[in-house]
Amino acid sequence: MKTQVAIIGSGPSGLLLGHLLRAAGIDCVIVERQSADYVLGRIRAGVLETVTTDLMERLGIDAGLKACGLLEEGFNLADGERLIRIEITRLTGKHVVVYGQTEVTRDLMDAAAERGLEVVYEAKDVGLHDLESDLPSLSYVKNGVEHRIHADFIAGCDGFHGPSRRAIPAARVREFEREYPFGWLGILADVPPCHPELIYANGERGFALASMRSATRSRYYIQVPLSETLEDWPEARLWDELAQRFDPISKHGVTRGPALEMSIAPLRSYVFETMRYGRLFLAGDAAHIVPPTGAKGLNLAASDVAYLSDALIAHYRSGDDSALAGYETKALARIWKAERFSWYLTKLMHRFPEDGSFEHRMQRAELDYVASSEAMQRAIAENYVGLPL
Ligand SMILES: Cc1cc2nc3c(=O)[nH]c(=O)nc-3n(C[C@H](O)[C@H](O)[C@H](O)COP(=O)(O)OP(=O)(O)OC[C@H]3O[C@@H](n4cnc5c(N)ncnc54)[C@H](O)[C@@H]3O)c2cc1C
Repeated sequence: MKTQVAIIGSGPSGLLLGHLLRAAGIDCVIVERQSADYVLGRIRAGVLETVTTDLMERLGIDAGLKACGLLEEGFNLADGERLIRIEITRLTGKHVVVYGQTEVTRDLMDAAAERGLEVVYEAKDVGLHDLESDLPSLSYVKNGVEHRIHADFIAGCDGFHGPSRRAIPAARVREFEREYPFGWLGILADVPPCHPELIYANGERGFALASMRSATRSRYYIQVPLSETLEDWPEARLWDELAQRFDPISKHGVTRGPALEMSIAPLRSYVFETMRYGRLFLAGDAAHIVPPTGAKGLNLAASDVAYLSDALIAHYRSGDDSALAGYETKALARIWKAERFSWYLTKLMHRFPEDGSFEHRMQRAELDYVASSEAMQRAIAENYVGLPL
Protein backbone atom coordinates (compact mmCIF):
# COMPACT_ATOMS: atom_id res chain seq x y z
CA MET A 1 0.00 0.00 0.00
CA LYS A 2 1.17 3.56 -0.68
CA THR A 3 0.01 6.74 1.02
CA GLN A 4 1.37 10.25 1.41
CA VAL A 5 1.70 10.40 5.21
CA ALA A 6 1.68 7.31 7.43
CA ILE A 7 0.85 8.17 11.04
CA ILE A 8 1.75 5.95 13.98
CA GLY A 9 -0.61 6.30 16.96
CA SER A 10 -4.24 7.35 17.29
CA GLY A 11 -3.99 9.47 20.42
CA PRO A 12 -4.88 13.16 20.16
CA SER A 13 -1.78 14.04 18.09
CA GLY A 14 -2.25 11.27 15.51
CA LEU A 15 -5.99 11.82 15.11
CA LEU A 16 -5.69 15.61 14.90
CA LEU A 17 -2.89 15.35 12.36
CA GLY A 18 -4.82 12.83 10.29
CA HIS A 19 -7.88 15.09 10.18
CA LEU A 20 -5.88 18.23 9.32
CA LEU A 21 -4.13 16.45 6.45
CA ARG A 22 -7.33 14.85 5.14
CA ALA A 23 -9.08 18.24 5.25
CA ALA A 24 -6.28 19.54 2.98
CA GLY A 25 -6.72 16.63 0.57
CA ILE A 26 -3.57 14.78 1.67
CA ASP A 27 -3.79 10.98 1.86
CA CYS A 28 -2.90 9.43 5.17
CA VAL A 29 -3.40 6.29 7.24
CA ILE A 30 -3.18 5.95 11.01
CA VAL A 31 -1.81 2.75 12.51
CA GLU A 32 -2.66 2.11 16.18
CA ARG A 33 -1.45 -0.72 18.40
CA GLN A 34 -4.50 -0.82 20.68
CA SER A 35 -8.22 -1.29 20.05
CA ALA A 36 -10.47 1.79 19.77
CA ASP A 37 -12.11 0.90 23.11
CA TYR A 38 -8.75 0.72 24.85
CA VAL A 39 -7.72 4.13 23.50
CA LEU A 40 -11.03 5.59 24.71
CA GLY A 41 -10.66 3.99 28.14
CA ARG A 42 -7.58 6.05 29.04
CA ILE A 43 -8.54 8.87 31.41
CA ARG A 44 -6.09 11.71 30.99
CA ALA A 45 -6.20 15.39 30.14
CA GLY A 46 -9.12 17.68 30.81
CA VAL A 47 -8.10 21.29 30.27
CA LEU A 48 -7.90 22.62 26.71
CA GLU A 49 -6.10 25.75 25.58
CA THR A 50 -7.31 27.83 22.66
CA VAL A 51 -4.68 26.18 20.45
CA THR A 52 -6.55 22.88 20.84
CA THR A 53 -10.10 24.23 20.69
CA ASP A 54 -9.20 26.33 17.61
CA LEU A 55 -7.99 23.21 15.78
CA MET A 56 -11.21 21.36 16.65
CA GLU A 57 -13.22 24.36 15.43
CA ARG A 58 -11.19 24.63 12.20
CA LEU A 59 -11.94 20.97 11.54
CA GLY A 60 -15.64 21.42 12.32
CA ILE A 61 -15.38 18.72 15.03
CA ASP A 62 -16.39 21.00 17.86
CA ALA A 63 -20.10 20.26 18.39
CA GLY A 64 -19.39 18.27 21.59
CA LEU A 65 -16.91 20.86 22.79
CA LYS A 66 -19.42 23.68 22.29
CA ALA A 67 -22.29 21.75 23.87
CA CYS A 68 -20.48 20.25 26.87
CA GLY A 69 -17.16 22.10 27.35
CA LEU A 70 -17.01 24.27 30.48
CA LEU A 71 -15.50 27.69 29.85
CA GLU A 72 -13.12 28.52 32.70
CA GLU A 73 -12.22 32.13 33.40
CA GLY A 74 -10.04 31.42 36.40
CA PHE A 75 -8.37 28.75 38.50
CA ASN A 76 -7.05 28.63 42.05
CA LEU A 77 -3.81 27.97 43.85
CA ALA A 78 -4.39 26.98 47.48
CA ASP A 79 -1.76 27.72 50.08
CA GLY A 80 -2.93 25.92 53.20
CA GLU A 81 -6.43 27.31 53.73
CA ARG A 82 -5.98 30.38 51.50
CA LEU A 83 -7.31 30.36 47.93
CA ILE A 84 -5.44 32.51 45.44
CA ARG A 85 -7.66 32.98 42.40
CA ILE A 86 -5.83 33.52 39.11
CA GLU A 87 -8.31 35.47 37.01
CA ILE A 88 -7.12 34.23 33.65
CA THR A 89 -9.71 35.97 31.49
CA ARG A 90 -9.39 39.36 33.16
CA LEU A 91 -5.58 39.12 32.99
CA THR A 92 -5.17 37.71 29.47
CA GLY A 93 -8.49 38.13 27.64
CA LYS A 94 -8.50 34.36 27.08
CA HIS A 95 -10.04 31.33 28.76
CA VAL A 96 -9.53 27.56 28.85
CA VAL A 97 -12.17 24.90 28.26
CA VAL A 98 -12.70 21.90 30.52
CA TYR A 99 -13.47 18.98 28.19
CA GLY A 100 -11.96 15.53 28.68
CA GLN A 101 -9.32 13.95 26.46
CA THR A 102 -11.66 10.95 26.24
CA GLU A 103 -14.36 13.17 24.74
CA VAL A 104 -11.88 14.87 22.36
CA THR A 105 -10.69 11.44 21.23
CA ARG A 106 -14.23 10.12 20.80
CA ASP A 107 -15.22 13.16 18.71
CA LEU A 108 -12.13 12.72 16.51
CA MET A 109 -12.75 8.97 16.14
CA ASP A 110 -16.42 9.45 15.21
CA ALA A 111 -15.45 12.09 12.65
CA ALA A 112 -12.74 9.78 11.25
CA ALA A 113 -15.38 7.15 10.51
CA GLU A 114 -17.64 9.77 8.87
CA ARG A 115 -14.88 11.40 6.82
CA GLY A 116 -13.09 8.32 5.61
CA LEU A 117 -9.92 8.87 7.65
CA GLU A 118 -8.51 5.35 7.85
CA VAL A 119 -7.40 4.10 11.26
CA VAL A 120 -6.01 0.56 11.52
CA TYR A 121 -6.54 -0.55 15.13
CA GLU A 122 -4.80 -3.51 16.79
CA ALA A 123 -1.77 -3.23 14.50
CA LYS A 124 1.00 -5.18 16.22
CA ASP A 125 4.80 -5.06 15.84
CA VAL A 126 4.91 -1.70 14.05
CA GLY A 127 8.36 -1.21 12.47
CA LEU A 128 9.85 1.83 10.72
CA HIS A 129 12.07 1.38 7.66
CA ASP A 130 14.27 3.42 5.27
CA LEU A 131 13.64 6.67 7.08
CA GLU A 132 16.52 8.43 5.35
CA SER A 133 15.36 7.40 1.87
CA ASP A 134 12.74 9.11 -0.33
CA LEU A 135 10.34 6.20 0.24
CA PRO A 136 10.21 5.25 3.90
CA SER A 137 7.76 2.60 5.04
CA LEU A 138 6.19 1.08 8.06
CA SER A 139 5.27 -2.51 8.65
CA TYR A 140 2.77 -4.04 11.05
CA VAL A 141 1.02 -7.30 11.73
CA LYS A 142 -2.78 -7.53 11.90
CA ASN A 143 -4.60 -10.81 12.50
CA GLY A 144 -1.35 -12.67 11.90
CA VAL A 145 -0.77 -11.08 8.46
CA GLU A 146 2.15 -8.69 7.85
CA HIS A 147 1.36 -5.43 6.04
CA ARG A 148 3.60 -2.68 4.71
CA ILE A 149 2.72 0.95 4.02
CA HIS A 150 5.08 3.02 1.85
CA ALA A 151 4.76 6.77 2.35
CA ASP A 152 6.38 10.11 1.55
CA PHE A 153 6.58 10.89 5.27
CA ILE A 154 6.05 9.09 8.57
CA ALA A 155 4.61 10.93 11.57
CA GLY A 156 5.54 9.42 14.93
CA CYS A 157 2.52 10.27 17.12
CA ASP A 158 2.91 7.13 19.21
CA GLY A 159 3.33 8.57 22.69
CA PHE A 160 6.14 8.09 25.17
CA HIS A 161 6.40 4.30 24.78
CA GLY A 162 6.05 4.02 21.00
CA PRO A 163 8.71 2.87 18.51
CA SER A 164 9.24 6.12 16.53
CA ARG A 165 11.61 7.86 18.88
CA ARG A 166 13.66 4.70 19.26
CA ALA A 167 14.04 4.45 15.45
CA ILE A 168 16.33 7.51 15.53
CA PRO A 169 20.02 6.63 15.97
CA ALA A 170 21.34 7.55 19.42
CA ALA A 171 24.17 9.58 17.89
CA ARG A 172 21.60 12.03 16.46
CA VAL A 173 19.73 12.80 19.68
CA ARG A 174 19.91 14.72 22.92
CA GLU A 175 17.62 13.83 25.81
CA PHE A 176 16.72 15.97 28.81
CA GLU A 177 14.90 14.38 31.70
CA ARG A 178 13.68 15.06 35.23
CA GLU A 179 11.82 12.37 37.16
CA TYR A 180 9.84 13.46 40.18
CA PRO A 181 9.84 11.48 43.43
CA PHE A 182 6.06 11.04 43.50
CA GLY A 183 3.09 10.19 41.32
CA TRP A 184 -0.50 11.37 41.01
CA LEU A 185 -3.24 9.11 42.31
CA GLY A 186 -6.42 10.02 40.41
CA ILE A 187 -10.08 9.21 40.88
CA LEU A 188 -12.92 9.90 38.43
CA ALA A 189 -16.48 9.83 39.73
CA ASP A 190 -19.95 10.99 38.75
CA VAL A 191 -20.28 13.51 41.56
CA PRO A 192 -20.53 17.31 41.34
CA PRO A 193 -17.19 19.12 41.66
CA CYS A 194 -16.36 20.59 45.06
CA HIS A 195 -15.60 23.98 43.52
CA PRO A 196 -16.65 25.74 40.32
CA GLU A 197 -13.00 26.13 39.18
CA LEU A 198 -9.89 23.96 39.47
CA ILE A 199 -7.94 24.11 42.73
CA TYR A 200 -4.23 23.20 42.82
CA ALA A 201 -3.53 22.81 46.54
CA ASN A 202 -0.23 22.76 48.41
CA GLY A 203 -0.96 21.71 52.00
CA GLU A 204 0.75 20.04 54.94
CA ARG A 205 -0.43 16.66 53.62
CA GLY A 206 1.01 17.27 50.14
CA PHE A 207 -0.32 18.31 46.76
CA ALA A 208 -3.91 17.77 45.66
CA LEU A 209 -5.91 18.85 42.61
CA ALA A 210 -9.68 19.26 42.45
CA SER A 211 -10.80 19.29 38.84
CA MET A 212 -13.78 18.22 36.80
CA ARG A 213 -14.89 16.88 33.45
CA SER A 214 -18.41 18.34 33.62
CA ALA A 215 -20.89 19.81 36.11
CA THR A 216 -21.63 16.27 37.30
CA ARG A 217 -18.29 14.48 36.88
CA SER A 218 -15.27 15.18 39.11
CA ARG A 219 -11.62 14.32 38.71
CA TYR A 220 -9.39 14.52 41.80
CA TYR A 221 -5.69 13.82 42.24
CA ILE A 222 -3.35 13.61 45.20
CA GLN A 223 0.41 13.31 45.32
CA VAL A 224 1.56 9.85 46.49
CA PRO A 225 5.04 8.34 47.00
CA LEU A 226 6.20 6.17 44.09
CA SER A 227 6.31 3.19 46.44
CA GLU A 228 2.51 3.24 46.89
CA THR A 229 0.06 1.31 44.71
CA LEU A 230 -3.72 1.28 44.23
CA GLU A 231 -3.93 -1.49 46.87
CA ASP A 232 -2.77 1.09 49.43
CA TRP A 233 -5.69 3.34 48.50
CA PRO A 234 -9.17 1.83 48.88
CA GLU A 235 -11.75 4.35 47.64
CA ALA A 236 -12.92 5.26 51.14
CA ARG A 237 -9.38 6.20 52.20
CA LEU A 238 -8.96 8.45 49.16
CA TRP A 239 -12.30 10.21 49.72
CA ASP A 240 -11.37 10.81 53.39
CA GLU A 241 -8.06 12.29 52.29
CA LEU A 242 -9.71 14.52 49.69
CA ALA A 243 -12.29 15.72 52.18
CA GLN A 244 -9.52 16.71 54.62
CA ARG A 245 -7.79 18.70 51.91
CA PHE A 246 -10.72 20.35 50.13
CA ASP A 247 -13.64 20.64 52.57
CA PRO A 248 -12.14 23.70 54.31
CA ILE A 249 -11.35 25.58 51.09
CA SER A 250 -13.84 24.53 48.42
CA LYS A 251 -17.29 25.98 47.84
CA HIS A 252 -19.39 22.82 48.22
CA GLY A 253 -17.08 20.32 49.94
CA VAL A 254 -16.16 16.94 48.47
CA THR A 255 -19.09 14.76 47.37
CA ARG A 256 -18.30 11.04 47.41
CA GLY A 257 -19.37 8.46 44.86
CA PRO A 258 -18.25 5.17 43.32
CA ALA A 259 -15.02 5.44 41.33
CA LEU A 260 -15.38 5.15 37.56
CA GLU A 261 -11.61 4.90 37.37
CA MET A 262 -8.59 5.10 39.66
CA SER A 263 -4.97 5.13 38.55
CA ILE A 264 -1.49 6.25 39.57
CA ALA A 265 0.63 8.15 37.04
CA PRO A 266 4.33 8.91 37.55
CA LEU A 267 5.47 12.49 36.93
CA ARG A 268 8.25 13.29 34.49
CA SER A 269 9.66 16.18 32.48
CA TYR A 270 11.31 14.99 29.27
CA VAL A 271 12.42 16.49 25.97
CA PHE A 272 13.86 14.54 23.06
CA GLU A 273 15.74 17.07 20.98
CA THR A 274 15.40 15.52 17.60
CA MET A 275 11.94 15.82 16.22
CA ARG A 276 13.01 14.99 12.68
CA TYR A 277 15.10 12.18 11.27
CA GLY A 278 15.08 11.86 7.48
CA ARG A 279 11.39 11.56 6.58
CA LEU A 280 10.24 10.80 10.12
CA PHE A 281 8.72 13.62 12.20
CA LEU A 282 7.80 13.26 15.87
CA ALA A 283 4.85 15.01 17.52
CA GLY A 284 3.25 15.01 20.98
CA ASP A 285 4.29 12.70 23.81
CA ALA A 286 6.58 10.80 21.42
CA ALA A 287 8.97 13.76 21.72
CA HIS A 288 8.23 15.27 25.11
CA ILE A 289 6.50 14.74 28.43
CA VAL A 290 5.42 17.30 30.97
CA PRO A 291 4.14 16.60 34.47
CA PRO A 292 0.36 17.13 34.37
CA THR A 293 0.58 20.18 36.68
CA GLY A 294 -0.65 23.04 34.49
CA ALA A 295 -2.32 20.78 31.89
CA LYS A 296 0.11 21.22 29.02
CA GLY A 297 0.61 17.71 27.54
CA LEU A 298 -2.38 17.42 25.22
CA ASN A 299 -2.13 21.09 24.31
CA LEU A 300 1.54 20.70 23.32
CA ALA A 301 0.57 17.73 21.16
CA ALA A 302 -1.95 20.04 19.46
CA SER A 303 0.60 22.80 18.84
CA ASP A 304 3.15 20.32 17.40
CA VAL A 305 0.48 19.02 15.07
CA ALA A 306 -0.58 22.55 14.05
CA TYR A 307 3.02 23.29 12.99
CA LEU A 308 3.57 19.90 11.35
CA SER A 309 0.32 19.87 9.38
CA ASP A 310 0.99 23.41 8.07
CA ALA A 311 4.48 22.32 7.01
CA LEU A 312 3.24 19.17 5.23
CA ILE A 313 0.44 21.11 3.54
CA ALA A 314 3.02 23.68 2.27
CA HIS A 315 5.10 20.80 0.92
CA TYR A 316 2.22 19.31 -1.06
CA ARG A 317 0.58 22.59 -2.15
CA SER A 318 3.61 24.59 -3.27
CA GLY A 319 6.66 22.36 -2.92
CA ASP A 320 7.90 24.73 -0.22
CA ASP A 321 9.89 22.73 2.36
CA SER A 322 11.06 25.62 4.52
CA ALA A 323 8.39 24.95 7.18
CA LEU A 324 9.33 21.25 7.29
CA ALA A 325 12.98 22.27 7.75
CA GLY A 326 11.99 24.68 10.52
CA TYR A 327 9.47 22.38 12.25
CA GLU A 328 11.77 21.18 15.02
CA THR A 329 13.07 24.65 15.93
CA LYS A 330 9.60 26.16 15.98
CA ALA A 331 8.04 23.33 17.98
CA LEU A 332 10.88 23.13 20.51
CA ALA A 333 10.68 26.86 21.27
CA ARG A 334 7.11 26.38 22.49
CA ILE A 335 7.79 22.99 24.09
CA TRP A 336 10.59 24.32 26.31
CA LYS A 337 8.41 27.17 27.57
CA ALA A 338 5.63 24.73 28.46
CA GLU A 339 8.22 22.45 30.10
CA ARG A 340 9.37 25.42 32.18
CA PHE A 341 5.84 26.29 33.31
CA SER A 342 4.90 22.70 34.22
CA TRP A 343 8.17 22.28 36.13
CA TYR A 344 7.66 25.61 37.94
CA LEU A 345 4.12 24.78 38.99
CA THR A 346 5.13 21.26 40.03
CA LYS A 347 7.94 22.62 42.22
CA LEU A 348 5.71 25.31 43.70
CA MET A 349 2.74 23.09 44.58
CA HIS A 350 4.20 19.70 45.65
CA ARG A 351 5.91 18.50 48.82
CA PHE A 352 9.27 17.02 47.78
CA PRO A 353 10.58 14.36 50.20
CA GLU A 354 14.09 15.87 50.08
CA ASP A 355 12.87 19.37 51.00
CA GLY A 356 13.18 20.77 54.49
CA SER A 357 11.63 23.70 56.31
CA PHE A 358 13.62 26.24 54.27
CA GLU A 359 12.15 25.02 50.95
CA HIS A 360 8.64 25.03 52.44
CA ARG A 361 9.12 28.66 53.49
CA MET A 362 10.33 29.43 49.96
CA GLN A 363 7.13 27.92 48.52
CA ARG A 364 5.04 29.89 50.99
CA ALA A 365 6.94 33.13 50.19
CA GLU A 366 6.42 32.57 46.48
CA LEU A 367 2.70 31.90 46.95
CA ASP A 368 2.48 35.03 49.15
CA TYR A 369 4.09 36.97 46.35
CA VAL A 370 1.70 35.50 43.78
CA ALA A 371 -1.24 36.43 46.03
CA SER A 372 -0.10 40.05 46.27
CA SER A 373 1.30 40.70 42.79
CA GLU A 374 -0.84 41.15 39.71
CA ALA A 375 2.31 40.92 37.57
CA MET A 376 2.99 37.41 38.93
CA GLN A 377 -0.64 36.41 38.45
CA ARG A 378 -0.57 37.68 34.88
CA ALA A 379 2.62 35.68 34.12
CA ILE A 380 0.98 32.52 35.50
CA ALA A 381 -2.28 33.23 33.65
CA GLU A 382 -0.47 33.85 30.35
CA ASN A 383 1.25 30.48 30.57
CA TYR A 384 -1.86 28.68 31.79
CA VAL A 385 -4.02 29.76 28.85
CA GLY A 386 -1.16 28.79 26.50
CA LEU A 387 1.52 30.87 24.84
CA PRO A 388 0.80 31.98 21.28
CA LEU A 389 1.62 29.63 18.40
C1 LIG B 1 -2.96 11.31 34.45
C2 LIG B 1 -2.70 12.25 33.30
C3 LIG B 1 -3.31 13.51 33.30
C4 LIG B 1 -3.07 14.38 32.25
N1 LIG B 1 -3.69 15.62 32.29
C5 LIG B 1 -3.48 16.47 31.27
C6 LIG B 1 -4.19 17.72 31.20
O1 LIG B 1 -5.00 18.07 32.07
N2 LIG B 1 -3.97 18.53 30.13
C7 LIG B 1 -3.09 18.17 29.12
O2 LIG B 1 -2.93 18.94 28.16
N3 LIG B 1 -2.43 16.98 29.14
C8 LIG B 1 -2.61 16.12 30.18
N4 LIG B 1 -1.99 14.88 30.17
C9 LIG B 1 -1.10 14.55 29.07
C10 LIG B 1 -1.86 14.08 27.83
O3 LIG B 1 -2.73 13.03 28.16
C11 LIG B 1 -0.84 13.63 26.77
O4 LIG B 1 0.11 14.64 26.60
C12 LIG B 1 -1.51 13.32 25.44
O5 LIG B 1 -2.23 12.10 25.51
C13 LIG B 1 -0.48 13.22 24.31
O6 LIG B 1 -1.10 12.80 23.13
P1 LIG B 1 -0.31 11.94 22.06
O7 LIG B 1 -1.29 11.65 20.99
O8 LIG B 1 0.95 12.62 21.70
O9 LIG B 1 0.12 10.61 22.82
P2 LIG B 1 -0.81 9.44 23.39
O10 LIG B 1 -2.10 9.97 23.88
O11 LIG B 1 0.05 8.66 24.32
O12 LIG B 1 -1.14 8.57 22.10
C14 LIG B 1 -0.17 7.76 21.49
C15 LIG B 1 -0.86 6.61 20.79
O13 LIG B 1 0.13 5.80 20.15
C16 LIG B 1 -0.19 4.45 20.35
N5 LIG B 1 1.00 3.61 20.23
C17 LIG B 1 1.98 3.41 21.14
N6 LIG B 1 2.86 2.51 20.70
C18 LIG B 1 2.43 2.13 19.47
C19 LIG B 1 2.92 1.20 18.53
N7 LIG B 1 3.99 0.44 18.77
N8 LIG B 1 2.25 1.05 17.37
C20 LIG B 1 1.12 1.79 17.11
N9 LIG B 1 0.61 2.66 17.99
C21 LIG B 1 1.26 2.83 19.16
C22 LIG B 1 -0.78 4.42 21.75
O14 LIG B 1 -1.56 3.26 21.98
C23 LIG B 1 -1.60 5.70 21.76
O15 LIG B 1 -2.91 5.50 21.33
C24 LIG B 1 -2.20 14.00 31.20
C25 LIG B 1 -1.60 12.73 31.19
C26 LIG B 1 -1.84 11.86 32.23
C27 LIG B 1 -1.18 10.49 32.21
